[in-house]
Amino acid sequence: MPGRSLNLLNVTLFAGVTGGAIIGLPAHGYFYGYSLVDWAMFVVLYIITGLGITVGYHRLLAHRSFACTRWVKGLLLIAGGWALQNSGLRWTADHIRHHARCDREEDPYNAKRGFWHSHCGWLFWSDPHKDDKFARKLQQDAVVMWQHRYYIPIVLSGLALPFVVGFLYDGWFGGLGCFLLAGVGRTFFVLNSTFCINSICHLWGAQPHGTSDSSRDSWWISLITFGEGYHNYHHRYQSDYRNGPQWYNFDPSKWLIYSLSLVGLASSLRRFS
Ligand SMILES: [Zn+2]
Ligand SMILES: [Zn+2]
Repeated sequence: MPGRSLNLLNVTLFAGVTGGAIIGLPAHGYFYGYSLVDWAMFVVLYIITGLGITVGYHRLLAHRSFACTRWVKGLLLIAGGWALQNSGLRWTADHIRHHARCDREEDPYNAKRGFWHSHCGWLFWSDPHKDDKFARKLQQDAVVMWQHRYYIPIVLSGLALPFVVGFLYDGWFGGLGCFLLAGVGRTFFVLNSTFCINSICHLWGAQPHGTSDSSRDSWWISLITFGEGYHNYHHRYQSDYRNGPQWYNFDPSKWLIYSLSLVGLASSLRRFS
């Protein structure tokens, strides 16, 4: 890409996760199989890390659509860190820029450049428009800065957890199997579900809430992204804690935020009527 250099760290991480998920994961399954514990850890960690991104990184940090106690924020940011999508601070700076400069050159995952660029291609190149100013407010937030500082140990703990559980259940091969399925495989699937918001939800789907940018509603993407497929609504009403505003919209992220508010762990839920 003219004017941009390869981001070797991201390319290496992406190749490792993708290679592990499409070669190592099925190979281990073919020769040794996966236990119920491996599958249970996959599902549990998919849910925890997926919600860490949607509720923690996206709706709490990037859009401040609700407030919560420090320790709830800390837990959400650990869960988000386990998804290998950068620290909350960096993720938020990119995401706020996406909303502020949508479909333009400065949009980090500009869908006008096509499916692959907006899905994952943007990660492979240096970004000349990268700017921390979009998340400057978060630099005053002690919990956010703590997560930013300890991002690498947090990522490693998220990969070590399935290995330890598998190891305790069935020794070294158990550890390897659980690591491949609930560590590497789960990371691959959560990454790609998040990528679908930036690609599919800017290319295909309905635009009932406005056509000023390329965002689209895609209910079926909500099924794998904990409610984030209602992306046209989200672009129109960014600080609404719901992405699917109707009661029947599949939006587990809004259900979690609402449930937290019922037990006093979240407050100041913002919504547009
Ligand atoms: Zn957003
Ligand atoms: Zn968008």
